[in-house]
Amino acid sequence: MATLKAGNDPNKWPQPDLAEVVNLCSMIAEKKDWMGKRDAAMIAIIGMFGKRAGEVTRLQRKDIVIGPNKIGKLPLAQGEFGIHFQIQKAQSPAKKRCKCGKVNSAKNVFCSECGKSMKNALLIPKKRAPVDKYKLTALSHPLARFLFEWLKEIPRSSESYIFPRSNIDVKQGEFPDRTSSRPVWNTPLSRRAPWRVLQTVDKSVWPHLLRHILANELTNRKDKEGNYVYDEKSIIDFFDWSNRNTYLGYIALGGEKRAAEVGRNVGDLFKG
Ligand SMILES: [Zn+2]
Repeated sequence: MATLKAGNDPNKWPQPDLAEVVNLCSMIAEKKDWMGKRDAAMIAIIGMFGKRAGEVTRLQRKDIVIGPNKIGKLPLAQGEFGIHFQIQKAQSPAKKRCKCGKVNSAKNVFCSECGKSMKNALLIPKKRAPVDKYKLTALSHPLARFLFEWLKEIPRSSESYIFPRSNIDVKQGEFPDRTSSRPVWNTPLSRRAPWRVLQTVDKSVWPHLLRHILANELTNRKDKEGNYVYDEKSIIDFFDWSNRNTYLGYIALGGEKRAAEVGRNVGDLFKG
């Protein structure tokens, strides 16, 4: 996959393409057994919603709803489906509690209330409660078919994990005996699994890259008139990011192409 090269700097990446993620899923699904279908569906969800690996591997059958229906408070129309994700919210900054009861930043050397030394103050554990998020997309999304192909094989029981482990433990560097393996429905894959799956089809791709691809795709998407479709705020909300710096860390800058667009249109500002 030539256009999906690894690297730390999004600005050095070529313009990514969602169609290539569809290709990846097709390659994964080529192994025509249950694991191939499971793995393609898992990568498809990451590609469609840009969620983290660990937020996808934990999904259960009850977390997917097809419209017309409702998921959480989110209405789903005909031709749409929704997924209930549990997002690990960013940790709040570390805090310390002074003997006087005042909660201070952990960086404080002296209490902001009583002025005493914070040296022996109690550290307050950070909260990491998962947050419920409901997302939807169209059934016609080119990646959706990989998910629904696999969902047909999942037991109706709502507690079933969508991405179950195999009953055969596969050790690093070993090839699983795929013919005799069966899904263990009550045990989800680890959050390392999406990385392993992608590496088997293309060593230059990893799960978090799919998040970047989607962020770039949405940033650069234009309508028929050539106007950008999504503003920053929409994209930040789509990814459940808490601020725009996170967003800016994900996207490649437009470089000369965007600069040329500005140059081409800037004269319009002076038109009467
Ligand atoms: Zn104090």
